Amino acid sequence: MKPTQPDSHGHFGAYGGMFVPETLMEPLNELARVYKEVRQDPAFKQELQYYLREYVGRPTPLYFAERMTAKLGTAKIYLKREDLCHTGAHKINNSMGQILLAKRMGKKRIIAETGAGQHGVATATVCAMFGMECVIYMGKVDMERQSLNVFRMESLGATVVPVTVGQQTLKEAVNEAMRDWVSNVRTTHYILGSALGAHPYPMMVRDFQSVIGREARRQILKAEGRLPTALVACVGGGSNSIGLFHPFIKDEGVRMIGVEAGGFGIEGGMHAARFAQEKIGILQGTKTYVLQDDDGQIALTHSISAGLDYAAVGPEHSLLRDLGRAEYSHVTDVEAVDGFDKLSQWEGILPALESSHAVAWVILNAAQFSKDDLLIVNVSGRGDKDVIQLAEWKKKQG
Ligand SMILES: *Cc1c(COP(=O)(O)O)cnc(C)c1O
Repeated sequence: MKPTQPDSHGHFGAYGGMFVPETLMEPLNELARVYKEVRQDPAFKQELQYYLREYVGRPTPLYFAERMTAKLGTAKIYLKREDLCHTGAHKINNSMGQILLAKRMGKKRIIAETGAGQHGVATATVCAMFGMECVIYMGKVDMERQSLNVFRMESLGATVVPVTVGQQTLKEAVNEAMRDWVSNVRTTHYILGSALGAHPYPMMVRDFQSVIGREARRQILKAEGRLPTALVACVGGGSNSIGLFHPFIKDEGVRMIGVEAGGFGIEGGMHAARFAQEKIGILQGTKTYVLQDDDGQIALTHSISAGLDYAAVGPEHSLLRDLGRAEYSHVTDVEAVDGFDKLSQWEGILPALESSHAVAWVILNAAQFSKDDLLIVNVSGRGDKDVIQLAEWKKKQG
């Protein structure tokens, strides 16, 4: 299969597009035009590569997880170590790409939304580095769950604006950021943090994150001389997963497995597993699978990990799922915490709670693989940001 690409209005098959107010069409079209230009520009590529290497610390290792492999006793497991990126997660791959783009467009002010806080930290970081003004919108509930990241953003010189409407999490933060963008579009670039939203964001964020998959493909071929059996990554908005998957789409034999947040379990409706439900909708600029209640209202979501706690999924994933090219599954909060504990103790690596979902899927599904199989698990971020919340969670569980 050919790698999926959107049409000129950002449609991935029936999904994607540009469902925004008229006032945003102009800036989105400008962004799409400039991005199309720089995408082909060797000087831009070179500049991005320079900063990814010298500042972010790429390439990240593809680490053979020897003890995890021995403990599970089936497939040989490799970990793609995005947790070793500067600031501790994959988000900076995208923030770096977009800030270089903003510089080209002559923008002086950067805004962003954040859920777990990792995208806010990554964006505040590149803003500090390039001396740009930075405003981050964050739901108040997320600010409480991720107070360490709020402190990090403020230390980096960013203004963090609490969002106190609705569920006070990521969805509302995106709304506020869009509102700001509409009013300040001449001076301001909006660095969206996942493969979501209106065109060109899903394509652009995917391109910037595809460095993960390009490296992993090269690294596994070097280490093993063959392609992996399967790729496993957690799916919030879908950027770390599409970044890993995309360079493998043409390799039909490679399974691609996205793991969503099962929260308290699918039955009670307190989760963020968009593909566990068959409902298509439009949310924040894009048409895609959206969690909805019986009246078609956007459902309340729940996940132990702020980064997976969102009602919509990136549109390219919706297409990959319908085509059957990628598979989607989910694990619960409890299973994810078990994944966190096991990877920490087996490999000395504290994964982010988001990444712990991918780890947990492998633990729960190890039996379907054999010793000839090779797995690549994306450790999208490190778990240091989550330890206080986890300690409290464990205390409550007794
Ligand atoms: C934000 C985040 C995610 C979820 O976002 P995606 O766009 O789905 O990658 C996953 N892992 C970490 C560590 C994050 O910070």
